[in-house]
Amino acid sequence: MNASSLFTLAFAAALLSSLATRYWLATRQVRHVARHRDAVPEAFASTVSLAAHQKAADYTLAKARVDLLEIAFGAAVLLGWTLLGGLDILNQGLHAGLGDGMTQQLALLAAFAVIGGVLDLPFSWYRTFVIEERFGFNKTTLGLWLADLAKGTVLGAVIGLPIAALILWLMGAAGSLWWLWAWGTWVGFNLLLLVIYPGFIAPMFNKFQPLTDEALATRVQALMQRCGFTAKGFFVMDGSRRSAHANAYFTGFGAAKRVVFYDTLLAKLSPGEVDAVLAHELGHFKHRHIIKRMVGLFGMSLAGFAVLGWLATQVWFYTGLGVRPNLGGSNDALALLLFMLVVPVFTFFISPLLARLSRRHEFEADAYAAAQTSGRDLGSALTKLYEDNASTLTPDPVFVAFYYSHPPAGERLARLGMNPQPA
Ligand SMILES: [Zn+2]
Repeated sequence: MNASSLFTLAFAAALLSSLATRYWLATRQVRHVARHRDAVPEAFASTVSLAAHQKAADYTLAKARVDLLEIAFGAAVLLGWTLLGGLDILNQGLHAGLGDGMTQQLALLAAFAVIGGVLDLPFSWYRTFVIEERFGFNKTTLGLWLADLAKGTVLGAVIGLPIAALILWLMGAAGSLWWLWAWGTWVGFNLLLLVIYPGFIAPMFNKFQPLTDEALATRVQALMQRCGFTAKGFFVMDGSRRSAHANAYFTGFGAAKRVVFYDTLLAKLSPGEVDAVLAHELGHFKHRHIIKRMVGLFGMSLAGFAVLGWLATQVWFYTGLGVRPNLGGSNDALALLLFMLVVPVFTFFISPLLARLSRRHEFEADAYAAAQTSGRDLGSALTKLYEDNASTLTPDPVFVAFYYSHPPAGERLARLGMNPQPA
């Protein structure tokens, strides 16, 4: 057996085992949530109604069903691009029409992105206008949804095409260490995005108004000072324009940090609870979670670029995935696309490690918030938010271990000492 067939086999095996694992996990979650649908967990008996608990169960089950469909569809699309020859046909067609060179390479990336985006649309539409709608969360109109889509596409092209052109150019011109340069470019680009996102990109999609509630502003300002933070401003975002889900975040670098509250959050929480939620976000900064996460991400992507630098020169990497490399021409866009397609299949199995790290960070941020404000306020805020977002209180523990970036409500309250019996 040659290297090409071996790689095909390894890819097929990884895809099948990840699919089987995801189906097994989803089935566990569906069974577990359905089995606990009839009773509110004891620890929440006085704070969460049976109706709210059952809504959360039904919402979780409805989302899980779409997830299953999307997993199967995604696998079919992945096979369509690779072993069934979709990417090969697209590449050969563009090569015949445009010849070799940067235009063909960019056209290949753009065509792939557009086709992928179109294939995702039915799911995105269904999630928003059927599931979110059925459970009363959707506030988006079809017009706004289409406008978001158009803006997102234009933004993707304006930002994505130059960076793609730069990386393709480095791949062709920077020698065998191109991947190091490309990685540096990618890191710089991500940092730039972080800097321009709050002031430039986010306002394209939402309105940000200074927090006008004087009492609340004074209160959160005092909290920030106590915790040793300065913010450039406190803003209220019109999250209610699209969805009833609530959130808050703290964003930006150095002195340009800003605090953003969703209007939906302010409508649901008392001032003490808002304080506790903000303190949780500050806790992420105090514990350097954001920096740690970024360093981790950049480290992993360095390894990824190094592997890509090697794979791009191996014929079996292309042929093993159903693509004929352009003979005597450039295959850089093909290498990028194949890499983006197959990496998630192999890295799926490390996702429990990342989820576990993320949950640990959440516990640390909770502990910080409890120390700086009140554990009781944080607990009641979390209970309200889990209930309002219809997050199930009774997820399957194995599903949680694999996927959950945030610990289930029961575990968080138990850590805060508010709930002697974790769900
Ligand atoms: Zn958090």
